[in-house]
Amino acid sequence: MEFTYLIIGGGIAGVSCVEGLAFLHPGESIGLVTPSGIVKAVTKTVPVTKLLSDITVEETDANKFEGLCTVIVDTVAAIDPRVNCVITEKQNRIKYKTLCICTGASPRKIWYSPHVITIRDTDSVAVLQEKLKSAKKIVVIGNGGIATELVHELSNVDIVWVVKDKHISATFLDPGAAEFFQDSINKTNTAKPETIFKRMRYNTGGEKGPSLGPDWHTQVNLHGSSRDTKITIEYSCEVERIVDSEDDTCNAYVKLTNGHTHACDIVVSAIGVVPNSNIQVHGTPFELAPDCGIGVNELMQTSISNVYAAGDVCTPSWDLAKQWFQMRLWTQAKHMGTYAAKCMVGAVKNEPVIQDFSFEMFTHMTKFFGYKVILLGLFNGQTLENDYEILLRVTRGEEYIKLVMKDGRMQGAVLIGETEIEEMCENLILNQLDLTDIADDLLNPNIDIDDYFD
Ligand code: FAD
Repeated sequence: MEFTYLIIGGGIAGVSCVEGLAFLHPGESIGLVTPSGIVKAVTKTVPVTKLLSDITVEETDANKFEGLCTVIVDTVAAIDPRVNCVITEKQNRIKYKTLCICTGASPRKIWYSPHVITIRDTDSVAVLQEKLKSAKKIVVIGNGGIATELVHELSNVDIVWVVKDKHISATFLDPGAAEFFQDSINKTNTAKPETIFKRMRYNTGGEKGPSLGPDWHTQVNLHGSSRDTKITIEYSCEVERIVDSEDDTCNAYVKLTNGHTHACDIVVSAIGVVPNSNIQVHGTPFELAPDCGIGVNELMQTSISNVYAAGDVCTPSWDLAKQWFQMRLWTQAKHMGTYAAKCMVGAVKNEPVIQDFSFEMFTHMTKFFGYKVILLGLFNGQTLENDYEILLRVTRGEEYIKLVMKDGRMQGAVLIGETEIEEMCENLILNQLDLTDIADDLLNPNIDIDDYFD
């Protein structure tokens, strides 16, 4: 077998790359190596702003892509770049002109016990669902999006949520936003909405913060066997040890670094991912970034010639735009896959390629505790080293708006709820307009700020 374009991995990055290649270079030979006949594809894109889209990701039969590419159900065991060839577990040798590695990332595993589940794909969610049927107590470890969504969706079970930070969801949220969700966590929101509008200087030093697709949790029933749902949050601590139980009162004991021990039936570990960059290479291996991702330059090229990488497996090693940074999220996997296709076609056709606009500014849209959450630019003051101001507007139970400002210019935003200002914020972050004179009015609910920019 021989292809002009060969892609490894049928996740969002790999499938977006195939679609991009088929569009940009119709008729050229494209091969997709995927370990399973099921791949992940973006099936619907609803634009929210110029850079932000609401995307529907679905698992679909790989055969549906037969019109675009040749699907090879197999796993790549090694790459031999000296002869432009990959070797698969079924001992196929597939030659390529250009290769793109889209093998994703795997959940980080620290504890090994039959009672510890790491959530990654539909199979692991099915295992969790089955175990939950008889569970009374579950310990959730992790402070990112997966743990946050899981805690929200679980019901009829006692939940102990172990977070290493002083507040929940620290990967995405600052302490103020975490506080905004406290009512939802307590599931007793009786407070009358009260709007707080203030301007403050940021001075709390140091606190910062194929996989499933988005909304994976809304498709499944995550009910335990108790009558109620109770959430206990263990802040600023980590798991020291997990010991299997020797009697039938529970399945495991989780000992924390703060001295507490919790007896439980299930432990869910969601403590981040590790790039699947360990494919064997004959000859000089890939240059890896400190996080073990395959380093790629501004054209998504790895250190090995004719080999590209995209999605969770790679780490951008180019000079990043001021308001963009990598987070291993499905939108970035899509953008990288599509852009890698552009770069590969550019190389094959010997045409210049201009870097994609999506790498200008970080954008992410998700749902936490039922609220729309939009994160733009340096939303947590990333890279600003605490030298910035915050504009904040909070209406309890309704919205939380945080604008990150430096030298009068907007650097980032956290928009929770139906704020309707995402487009304005995106524009102001991209065009870096000096807002010094109107900063105090930016979030004033009595002023229609859009008028300023008409
Ligand atoms: P993947 O989707 O992981 O695909 C990689 C593919 O490569 C897989 O099909 C794998 O089988 C294949 N592969 C691996 N090794 C080989 C090999 N040697 N040979 C051939 N094929 C191989 N992101 C969001 O933006 N929003 C969310 O709400 C969200 N929720 C998530 C929830 C969970 C539980 C998890 C685990 C992740 C979530 N993410 C979310 C992250 C998001 O899913 C990933 O960033 C995205 O799927 C990465 O896409 P990818 O194509 O790079 O990798």
